[in-house]
Amino acid sequence: MKCPECEGDISIPEDALEGEIVACPDCGASFELYKKGDKTFDLRPIQAVGEDWGE
Ligand SMILES: [Zn+2]
Repeated sequence: MKCPECEGDISIPEDALEGEIVACPDCGASFELYKKGDKTFDLRPIQAVGEDWGE
Protein backbone atom coordinates (compact mmCIF):
# COMPACT_ATOMS: atom_id res chain seq x y z
CA MET A 1 0.00 0.00 0.00
CA LYS A 2 1.27 3.43 -0.83
CA CYS A 3 1.83 6.15 1.70
CA PRO A 4 -0.49 9.09 0.94
CA GLU A 5 2.23 11.47 2.00
CA CYS A 6 5.32 10.28 0.18
CA GLU A 7 4.14 7.28 -1.84
CA GLY A 8 6.52 5.10 0.07
CA ASP A 9 5.68 1.49 0.59
CA ILE A 10 3.68 0.67 3.71
CA SER A 11 3.16 -2.98 4.41
CA ILE A 12 -0.19 -3.95 5.86
CA PRO A 13 -0.28 -7.19 7.85
CA GLU A 14 -2.66 -9.78 6.50
CA ASP A 15 -4.44 -9.93 9.81
CA ALA A 16 -4.69 -6.16 10.12
CA LEU A 17 -7.81 -4.80 11.73
CA GLU A 18 -9.76 -1.67 11.13
CA GLY A 19 -8.52 1.10 13.37
CA GLU A 20 -4.99 -0.25 13.47
CA ILE A 21 -2.22 2.30 13.29
CA VAL A 22 0.49 1.89 10.70
CA ALA A 23 3.53 4.05 10.19
CA CYS A 24 5.31 4.82 6.98
CA PRO A 25 8.94 3.70 7.15
CA ASP A 26 9.95 6.41 4.72
CA CYS A 27 8.44 9.62 6.08
CA GLY A 28 7.36 8.41 9.51
CA ALA A 29 3.76 9.54 9.14
CA SER A 30 1.17 7.49 10.97
CA PHE A 31 -2.13 6.45 9.51
CA GLU A 32 -5.18 4.63 10.66
CA LEU A 33 -6.51 1.71 8.70
CA TYR A 34 -10.12 1.74 7.75
CA LYS A 35 -12.16 -0.57 5.64
CA LYS A 36 -12.88 0.72 2.22
CA GLY A 37 -14.60 -2.28 0.74
CA ASP A 38 -15.18 -5.87 1.55
CA LYS A 39 -11.55 -6.82 2.02
CA THR A 40 -9.84 -3.62 1.07
CA PHE A 41 -8.17 -1.31 3.49
CA ASP A 42 -7.29 2.29 2.98
CA LEU A 43 -5.33 4.74 5.06
CA ARG A 44 -6.44 7.92 6.70
CA PRO A 45 -4.31 10.39 8.61
CA ILE A 46 -4.56 10.38 12.35
CA GLN A 47 -6.19 13.48 13.69
CA ALA A 48 -4.00 13.95 16.67
CA VAL A 49 -3.99 17.66 17.38
CA GLY A 50 -6.83 20.04 18.00
CA GLU A 51 -9.46 17.40 17.79
CA ASP A 52 -12.07 17.20 20.50
CA TRP A 53 -12.88 13.58 21.11
CA GLY A 54 -15.45 14.31 23.76
CA GLU A 55 -15.75 12.50 27.06
ZN1 LIG B 1 5.43 8.15 3.78
